Amino acid sequence: MVPFLELKTQYLGIKDEIADAIQRVLDSTQYALGAEVEAFEEEFAAFSGSTYGVGMNSGTSALHLALLAAGAGPGDEVITVPHTFVATVAAVLYAGATPVFVDIDPASYTMDPDLLEAAITKRTKVVMPVHLYGQAADMDPILDVARRHRLTVIEDAAQAHGAEYKERKCGSMGDMACFSFYPGKNLGAYGEAGMVLTDREDYKTTLRMLRDWGQKTKYAHVLKGFNARMDGIQGAVLRVKLRHLEAWTESRRERARQYGELLAGCEPIGLPVEYSDRRHAYHLYVVRVADREGFMGFLGDRDVGAGIHYPTPVHLLEGYADLGYKEGEFPEAERAAAEVVSLPMYPELTSDHVVTVAGAIEEWAAR
Ligand SMILES: *Cc1c(COP(=O)(O)O)cnc(C)c1O
Repeated sequence: MVPFLELKTQYLGIKDEIADAIQRVLDSTQYALGAEVEAFEEEFAAFSGSTYGVGMNSGTSALHLALLAAGAGPGDEVITVPHTFVATVAAVLYAGATPVFVDIDPASYTMDPDLLEAAITKRTKVVMPVHLYGQAADMDPILDVARRHRLTVIEDAAQAHGAEYKERKCGSMGDMACFSFYPGKNLGAYGEAGMVLTDREDYKTTLRMLRDWGQKTKYAHVLKGFNARMDGIQGAVLRVKLRHLEAWTESRRERARQYGELLAGCEPIGLPVEYSDRRHAYHLYVVRVADREGFMGFLGDRDVGAGIHYPTPVHLLEGYADLGYKEGEFPEAERAAAEVVSLPMYPELTSDHVVTVAGAIEEWAAR
């Protein structure tokens, strides 16, 4: 049996470090923000090649408040992709702005830079590429178009801790970058957490106020803010886990290499494309299969876990019907949504697990 995701083994390996970290917070009584959160903000910003970190209570809050800091609001358009987790688009709507979609490049599953310019209007304020599955979007052409049109770039890096693009870390390329530390992410809290990274002091100052009721100093609410503060315990846990992140990412990459070797000749399976100028962090190992239902049923019968990320592109989700999009408008996103399957992928996945999964896939392909 190979589960799709399993968090317990990792926890057991760092149990004592985690217990000490949590105890420190309990003793300090700094349960919301505080010294551990501040230290984690500095450490994660440094790790990601950025200057400032602003800890939040989720990746969704990070996206929402980054959009507000960029000045996006009613009447403004934010360009992003429909093939993403729904939070990317929900955050645009929270800010009161209008999401505008461009299709993905089917090989990378990220924003097709060639389609970006045509989507820009007088109302466009922000471009928000998503580094989906742990691989960077093609940032140079995106940044180039955005600069020419004076648009703010916000990276949705919720799946891309430690990923790189041309030697630059995801999180260091846009004007702001948003991370999630949801438990299943590559760097996962033991609860909910998120962060915005930026090199700009003005954004950092605004974001720190927005997450804490718009306060400049206590009870001086100079902005209409939110309660989006990071917990002290999550900051302490994430500091411990950050020290292991590089080893965990390397482990994911090794398992991905192994999947790639074992499945190379397996014709009905489309393997993920890893670009030579990017370091894929393999948040998810996503293959493409035309007969997805049959494939997943077969894996299920053999006790191999698998997932779909994501079965419906955001422009076709029932809850977002009022955006007014129709089927056929973003064909690559729609085709990806119909064909993608995520295989088991986590740092503690063993080499034997990968052999088992690949064996089941070979069996399915040969039947
Ligand atoms: C997880 C995720 C988010 C939201 O993060 P939360 O911490 O769950 O709020 C946003 N965008 C993408 C691409 C994600 O994967």
